[in-house]
Amino acid sequence: MRYFLLLCIFFVGLSSNVEAQDSSPKRLKKIVIDPGHGGDKPGAIGKISKEKDLNLAISLKLGELINQHLKPLEVVYTRKTDHDVDLIRRSQLANREKADMFISIHCNASKNKDASGTETFVMGLAKTQANIEAAKKENADILLEANYAEKYDGFDPNSPESNIFFAFYQNAYLEQSLVLASKLQEQFISNTKMLNRGVKQAPYLVLYKTSVPAILTEVGFISNPKEELYLNSQLGQYEIAASIFLAIQQYKNHLEGVIRPLPSIASLIPHEAIKADKLAREREALAKEKEEAAKLLAQKLKDSLKQESNAADTIMNECGLVYRVQFYTDKAKKSPESNIFKGLDSIWMYNDNDLWKYTSGSFKDFKSAMDYREKIKKKGYKDAFVVIFNNDERISLAKAKEIENNNKK
Ligand SMILES: [Zn+2]
Repeated sequence: MRYFLLLCIFFVGLSSNVEAQDSSPKRLKKIVIDPGHGGDKPGAIGKISKEKDLNLAISLKLGELINQHLKPLEVVYTRKTDHDVDLIRRSQLANREKADMFISIHCNASKNKDASGTETFVMGLAKTQANIEAAKKENADILLEANYAEKYDGFDPNSPESNIFFAFYQNAYLEQSLVLASKLQEQFISNTKMLNRGVKQAPYLVLYKTSVPAILTEVGFISNPKEELYLNSQLGQYEIAASIFLAIQQYKNHLEGVIRPLPSIASLIPHEAIKADKLAREREALAKEKEEAAKLLAQKLKDSLKQESNAADTIMNECGLVYRVQFYTDKAKKSPESNIFKGLDSIWMYNDNDLWKYTSGSFKDFKSAMDYREKIKKKGYKDAFVVIFNNDERISLAKAKEIENNNKK
């Protein structure tokens, strides 16, 4: 029974769609611009911005460009401020105003932070799960509307059959919507650095209820940090708005069979936006330069410290017979610069049985080392004693005497 009712609703919907198509000479006279979400429906949320605000900023810039360059094409907005409008009222506005085109402007979002690019949808059954999910996200706004089931013919965006719900939908304006959508994607390719994700079909409620050529464009990913910055920049917003503007003019030419030359993208973007972008880039480059210089300086400092300590090590590692005073033993390896060695000269250390042994002083004869040991004792190292090394190998006093005698010969 429910299925039968649904069928009826769709055939009614279908016939009303077909009736709405008029046979008068085709002109593009009125366009409805629909900034997605608004008010307590923020849409996707980025790190520094909300989708509803970006959608509105781009939509207002688009309207501004049309008013400046495409008069007398009339612009009607579904919203011009940050407030919420039910999806059905957005479509109804387009139908009531007898608009010739409906453009819904949105920003995309994905759990994958690397996802990027633009894509434009026309109403239809989604062919891939990704497109079903895309529509689901945007359609979810109706869950916050009162009596949504009633208003949308029992449609439930969360139902697994939500795509099938539109199985009998036929769009009298599909062809025109597709022309506009593909022109828009081409403009995005020419005028922005964003990836082209193409033209797609998915069951967007805001398009489904609209009885005029209609598209929903996702102008970049708010979830991608780099793209979110671009979407927030004046230049980015103007480049996107100008791309939509140029696609509209191309579509208008196509529809009316007239060839009006397209303005250049540069002529559509205010100088201030370009200047601000240049400034931001320069600032960014400067900050990067400073960062690199600081990094380089830190590395140089590190290198020179290393060189110094290597040089110090070389001085310490004297060859031949050396007498030192051992005063401290530790499991941990300490730096010769460590505070605990303050006031002691020529710190040198060696490892013996997994213990680090620390010595001070460096003498050529036993007597000088013994004298120095007295000084060390006075500094609190009462157990200090003389150790002897031959080419860095610890040896006994007897062995040292033998070497000394041999050297005298
Ligand atoms: Zn959205």
